[in-house]
Amino acid sequence: MKAVVVGGGIIGLCSAWYLREAGWDVELVDRSDLHDNCSYGNLGMVVPSHFVPLATPGIVAQGIKWMFDAKSPFYVKPTPSWRLINWGLKFINSAKADKVDYAAPFLRDINLLSRSLYEGWKRDALFDFSFEQKGIMMYFKEEKTAEEEYHLAEKARAMGLDAVSLNKAEAQAIETGTRLDVLGAVHYRCDGHLYPNQLMPALIASLKKKGAQFRLGHAVSKVHRNGKKLLSVDAGPENIPGDLFVFAAGSWLPELTSKAGVKISLMPGKGYSFTVENPAVKLDIPAILCEARVAITPMAGRMRYGGTMELATTQETVNMQRVRGIVESIPKYFPDNTLAMPSQQEVWYGFRPCSPDGLPYIGTAKGTDNLVIAGGHAMMGLSLGPATGKLVAEIASGETTSVNVAAFRADRF
Ligand SMILES: Cc1cc2nc3c(=O)[nH]c(=O)nc-3n(C[C@H](O)[C@H](O)[C@H](O)COP(=O)(O)OP(=O)(O)OC[C@H]3O[C@@H](n4cnc5c(N)ncnc54)[C@H](O)[C@@H]3O)c2cc1C
Repeated sequence: MKAVVVGGGIIGLCSAWYLREAGWDVELVDRSDLHDNCSYGNLGMVVPSHFVPLATPGIVAQGIKWMFDAKSPFYVKPTPSWRLINWGLKFINSAKADKVDYAAPFLRDINLLSRSLYEGWKRDALFDFSFEQKGIMMYFKEEKTAEEEYHLAEKARAMGLDAVSLNKAEAQAIETGTRLDVLGAVHYRCDGHLYPNQLMPALIASLKKKGAQFRLGHAVSKVHRNGKKLLSVDAGPENIPGDLFVFAAGSWLPELTSKAGVKISLMPGKGYSFTVENPAVKLDIPAILCEARVAITPMAGRMRYGGTMELATTQETVNMQRVRGIVESIPKYFPDNTLAMPSQQEVWYGFRPCSPDGLPYIGTAKGTDNLVIAGGHAMMGLSLGPATGKLVAEIASGETTSVNVAAFRADRF
């Protein structure tokens, strides 16, 4: 039986990995040469701590305020598009306390599954991807944020996650890499981090060794379907038949699924990062700067800084004002870490695939028997890659899934 996986980001590669493990012949199709996509320049955090989805109460009002600040971490490109309006209405409807509470255990469980799969890859020494489990530190400077973060940490502990609330001195005793100027922190010891630029090529090489076929350089332009069954896809001059199809096209998922007559609500959320190869200041533990919405990860000797969310644009340009916002926020929390502005060429950008409720889509597409959708992981795709791949393989084989996937149904909107 042959599975055709479209999209070779972390989600497509992990789907291919577990399908191969389950005995499927696998052919992976990507329009690029797989040397870059959203899964490379991200911050590499593996985050059971992120049990709260993107759509939360209060985020809409905060987002509107941010839109008027050029250096802010959030921006929506005003576009007269029905797709954006429709997504926005679904987002507002999802940003409610009861929906966030409903999502939390699903996100916790899939994240814990994924972390344990990464642990397994490391334990089995399949390849090196610099996976470390030192947790992540959520730093804050303001009383209001402290209250929110300590409350969230309590909730995390109640859900069985290892989270420690710290004052400044306690945080400083743990982060010995640099001087802190913060009010306090929460140390999510349940989290980990890795170096995505090492993981991605290692996964591709390992998949090739396992016998997966790669067909690169041509976008899927047409999907052939007969009733509930997908028959084949066209990519460049080739027609590729399969028994099972997995669509994992990141931010381009709606365009791809529409070729099969399937609607998926999703918006790209552009983010930036830059990496300092020989940093003067090295953090020991990855950090999230809560008020600034900036993330920092030490990666095998280098430091990566990133953030911002520009919604609804797939423009291949770099907004240096937003990068400046990231650079200027760092010394506010780490006074000895004053960074030079990177040049435009040094800035990486990627498009997070954002579903309106902040939950991934993992499941069979509406009205089809053999199309599995895997996408919409927004800020957690790297973290959730292995679990998503495993769940895709389980769904494809009709097995009971390792965790409950009811909240991730592809036909929920
Ligand atoms: C600044 C930033 C920081 C981040 N930090 C983290 C983090 O710390 N932890 C975390 O878990 N996540 C993080 N993320 C999110 C994470 O990077 C994404 O969720 C993840 O990479 C999405 O993976 P994907 O496989 O769905 O999409 P992608 O990696 O974008 O891959 C999609 C692939 O599909 C291919 N494709 C699209 N259309 C077609 C077509 N028609 N035919 C053939 N191929 C097609 C594309 O070429 C591409 O290779 C971050 C993102 C950003 C931007």
